[in-house]
Formats: sequence, structure tokens, C-alpha cells
Amino acid sequence: MNTTPLPVLLRRSRVMVVCTASLAYVVYVLLTTLVDPPQPVLAAYLTPKNGAALVALLTAACTVKWPDRLTWVYLVTSLGYLLTAVFEIPRAVAWGDMPMHLTLWLTMNVLVSYLVFGSRAGTVLNLTSVALMMVTVILNGPVAPSNLADWLTASVVMGATGLIAFVTVSFIEQNLSTHLQDSERLQAARMDAVTEVLGRSATEEELTRAIQQAVRNRQPMSIIVTDIDYFKRVNDVHGHGAGDDVLRAFGKRLRRSVSGAGGQVGRWGGEEFLVILPGVARPDAMAVAERLRGEVAADPIAGLTITASFGVGSLRGAEDTAEDLFSRADSAMYNAKRSGRNAVR
Ligand code: GH3
Ligand code: MG
Ligand code: MG
Repeated sequence: MNTTPLPVLLRRSRVMVVCTASLAYVVYVLLTTLVDPPQPVLAAYLTPKNGAALVALLTAACTVKWPDRLTWVYLVTSLGYLLTAVFEIPRAVAWGDMPMHLTLWLTMNVLVSYLVFGSRAGTVLNLTSVALMMVTVILNGPVAPSNLADWLTASVVMGATGLIAFVTVSFIEQNLSTHLQDSERLQAARMDAVTEVLGRSATEEELTRAIQQAVRNRQPMSIIVTDIDYFKRVNDVHGHGAGDDVLRAFGKRLRRSVSGAGGQVGRWGGEEFLVILPGVARPDAMAVAERLRGEVAADPIAGLTITASFGVGSLRGAEDTAEDLFSRADSAMYNAKRSGRNAVR
């Protein structure tokens, strides 16, 4: 089963939240303008409330266009909201009450900025914004005592939202970091310690998975079994350490050579490796094996010239099992050995 990795899901959620919150604010401004049209029209449209709506609209558009640059887009957005607030606060203080729209976009910004920037950078940004706004209020103050309740309500709403966002985002971050550590450990356990390609059981898992996928998608798939020729001699002549170096370099070379086409490499045991080639039919798999054989024989591996024998097996149908497929490729590889080694069958 192929599941979407958590960091990718989190990135998608961020994009969705930024777009939804921004567009929601734009809709709010449109609706309030519809319900209560400004008089005189032109001057009233040039208000910070509409400025914030414009920032929100641009944010949604830029987020859709550059979802991978969300952090930068939203950094500009935050600065846009902050500047708009700095212009709006003197007006609000002069009027006396704290306008709803200002509370709305500032609260939305507190929430979204925590989600986009994370708990640390979000706190730095929000505290800096609060400090700047407080300075603006003080410089333009004092707020009339009769309107203090409105300002207090707005502060409590924003503060509580910030606190909830901080706690929630910290929780998400902790879980994500634990999850990433777990999946790194899991990935390490799947690898062969010497060669750093897939270990035996992970190779079997991937083989079964590739067969199921090929059957499901009605696509071809092939495997290559390869075994280093006269490897015992490498150990006997150069020592076990040099043998390990050859195994490591051999695995790496196979992996580099086939990973571009979505191929996977695993160590079946000893000096025998399995290459899984999803979507590849027999003629192409034979060509891949021939290319690998040529590459191995042509360039010294870990300083030693070696050769290997290759056997190709291709999926015959839905009733073909991993054992059947492997057994055909393995017999082909032994045919290559019998025919004098350094060959593909
Ligand atoms: P052939 O061409 O028929 O494959 O001959 P060969 O010498 O490669 O085959 P054989 O099966 O006789 O020898 C395989 C050797 O691989 C024996 C074993 O000591 C060695 N070997 C298996 N695993 C490892 C390992 O992890 N490290 C090292 N250095 N050697 C290993
Ligand atoms: Mg061998
Ligand atoms: Mg062997």
C-alpha cells in the first residue's frame, strides 16, 4: 500500500489553510460591503479593510501558483497585514471602537502564521507584531475608557488563538519529528548493513509488491538475478575486507545504474543480488542486464576487475508468484554461469 508521507500531507494542509483563510476574508469583506455599501464610494474603498482583502486575495493566488514557496509568500503576507494594521490602528483609535475586520484578519494571521512558520518562528513573528501594534496604539492613544472593552475583547481573542495555535503546532511538530525518526529507523532496518542496498526480507517484500502492482496495472515487470563470478577468489586473494568493499561497490553500481528508471536493488544473500524492474518487459530487461554486465566488466570495482553472471525473469501473468519468477531468473543466472560466466541469460 502506497501512503502519502506525513511531511507532504502537512505541506498540503498548509497550502489549503492559507488559501481557505485568505479567501474567507475576501468573501467576508465582499459581503459586508454588499450589506453596508460605503459612502462616498471611491474614498471608502481605499480603506485598510480593503487593503487587507487585497493582501488576502494576492496571498491565495500566489499560494496556488507557488505552493512550494509558501513560507516566503506568507512572510510577505504577514508584513502586508502588519503594515495595513499599523495604518488602520490610528483610525480605529480615533473612532474609538476596535473594528471587527481588524480583529478578524489579525486573528486569522496569528493562526495561519503559526501553521506556516512553526511554533518558534511563529512566536517570534507574532510577538514582534504585537509589540509593534502596541507601540502604534500607545503613540495614537489613549483609547477612550468607554471603548476599552472592545479592545480588550479583541486582545483576548487574538491572545487565546495564539496560545491554542502554539500548543497545537508544537504538538504536530513533536509528533512529526518522532514519526520521521521512526521511519528513518525503519528504513535503516530494511537495508543490508554491508552493501547499503535493500536487505533480504525487504527485497522479498518489494518483489511481491512490484508483482502485485504490475498485475493490478496490467503492466510488464522483470527481475534480474546477478551473482559475482569467482567471488571466493576475491576473499581468498585479497581478504574478507576487500571482498566486502567489492560487494558494497557492486551494490552501489547496480543501484546507480537502475534507480533512474525506477528500478530497485536488493541483496539476496552472499554475492547474489536482485534487481527489480517495474514496467519493463523481457527484451528491455535483457538489454538492461547486458548493459550492467558490460559496465561491471569494463570498470574495476573497488580497485579489482571482476565480472558477474546475470539471469532475467519476466512476469508471465497474474498467477505467476514471486517464487516462480525468482526461480526462473535464478536458473537463467546458473545457465549463464554454466556457459562460462560474464554472460546474460
Ligand atoms: P561462482 O562464479 O560460481 O559464483 O563462484 P563464487 O566463488 O563466486 O561462488 P561461491 O558460492 O563458491 O563463493 C561465494 C563466496 O562469497 C563464499 C563466501 O565466503 C563469500 N561471501 C558471502 N557473503 C560474504 C560477505 O558478506 N562478505 C564477503 N567478503 N564474502 C562473502
Ligand atoms: Mg559467485
Ligand atoms: Mg553465489
